[in-house]
Amino acid sequence: MPQSRVFAQRISSESSAEQVADGMAQLLDRFDLPRLFGGKTVLVKPNLCGESGPANTDPRVVYGVVRALQPIASRIIVGDGAVIGTETTTVINDSGLRETLRGTRAEVVDFKSGRYVEIHLANGRCTKKMMIAEAAVNADAIVSVAKLKTHDATGVSLAMKNLKGLLHEYDMLHFHHVNLSECIVDLVSAFRPALSVIDGLIALDAFGAGAVEMNVVLAGEDPVAVDATASRAIGVDPVNIYSGTLNESHIKRANERGLGEITNIEVIGDLPQAHFQSPPTSLSQIQTPEGMEIIDGDPCPACIGMLASVLQKLKQGSKQSENTMILVGPKAPPPEKTKGRTIIIGNCLHRLQSESEGSAFVIGCPPNATYDVLPTLEA
Ligand code: SF4
Repeated sequence: MPQSRVFAQRISSESSAEQVADGMAQLLDRFDLPRLFGGKTVLVKPNLCGESGPANTDPRVVYGVVRALQPIASRIIVGDGAVIGTETTTVINDSGLRETLRGTRAEVVDFKSGRYVEIHLANGRCTKKMMIAEAAVNADAIVSVAKLKTHDATGVSLAMKNLKGLLHEYDMLHFHHVNLSECIVDLVSAFRPALSVIDGLIALDAFGAGAVEMNVVLAGEDPVAVDATASRAIGVDPVNIYSGTLNESHIKRANERGLGEITNIEVIGDLPQAHFQSPPTSLSQIQTPEGMEIIDGDPCPACIGMLASVLQKLKQGSKQSENTMILVGPKAPPPEKTKGRTIIIGNCLHRLQSESEGSAFVIGCPPNATYDVLPTLEA
């Protein structure tokens, strides 16, 4: 197998949009852009997840991609659908993306304001159909312009996970309900980006230091290699991000399914190294609120990370969750009768649902923190 090549370009986070685009031009000059994008309708897909600051792709990096594509592509669409419950147009405006792209040929599109098309995946392992933004379906090529960051449910959120923004909100949640990692790989198999770019100007260490100036942008044609390299650059092993009964690293699964390289990679350029704090990997690292008991059934880190973020949100809210027993992990025993509520979390405990009258079951692998678990705890 030939090695996949991933290029790294140092660009100062203090740079102007034009200076970032100059650095991006040096990076993107390494690729045969006319072969990849000549005369094509290209979808540039940033990560406009909806949270503020460094969680979103830096508009200057998106501008750098657009400036490089302008002489080549026939049409450039910059589009995304923000996380469930968030208006993409608000993020497009508040992030400065629309302003930064003013004067370019790029059409800025809010997927949620447009149509979605049902796509069938004969070889989907996790899902056989999904609703995809029409702009993505009609594009000849996709550039995934992701953020360098850690994430509670998938360990890292990079070029492949960034494609979740192509989905209708129904499927964003459905992915969680079936098996998030495997569904992401299904999505990548159907909409493999021609080029994957990772914005590491200011990265996000979501469980540790917060915003971290890495002053780098990565790019490559192999999205698995790009994600594996970016993951290693922040000290997260892409093979062992998450492993469990049903849920495994999406980067590892993408490699196993032949979508790209995870170790056979040549890294070209100056790639800084950091050690980001991953989501917690043991329930003992989570502070359990008073009145709540978590029964440890050896859950995957995906569910531990998800629970950590839910309990953090619960602490910030006004509602208390007293007399609550939470069962999580495939080895959790059937719940004993308690005075309070019992909440069973995750698809690997589906077997307990019928045996546990009166308890609440939360679907997902891992369940979505905001839309599945939090409302159940606050009910
Ligand atoms: S639901 Fe079970 S198998 Fe799935 S991530 Fe959670 S602990 Fe792992």
